[in-house]
Amino acid sequence: MPPSDTLTELARCSFCNKPETEVDKLVAGAGVHICNECVALATEIIDGTPTAPAGPRLPIWVSLTDDEMLSHIPRVASHINQAEADLRSWVHELRRRNVTWTRIGEALKITRQSAWERFSGEE
Ligand SMILES: [Zn+2]
Repeated sequence: MPPSDTLTELARCSFCNKPETEVDKLVAGAGVHICNECVALATEIIDGTPTAPAGPRLPIWVSLTDDEMLSHIPRVASHINQAEADLRSWVHELRRRNVTWTRIGEALKITRQSAWERFSGEE
């Protein structure tokens, strides 16, 4: 069983939603991840020479039924959760380094109080 690290459990490609255990590589960005397969597809699209079979694409709303849209929104929500977990880990590290809530708030363009309420875990 993989380690029960929260970030590891949440790590999925933000484009195709595959977990890191189902892809060769998963590259982390700021709150998002992209797998090697989606990088390859994106490269083909950028190069203008798509040769791979239809792969993961961003949905176009007009072509989707209500049920298809409803099945998609949990994926969007999981991206929010993944980004939130990533943000919390960065803030946690800044606090471990004794960076003040004021500076963290300024960086996030929120008040010191809002930063504390959102990330401290205290009441
Ligand atoms: Zn992917």
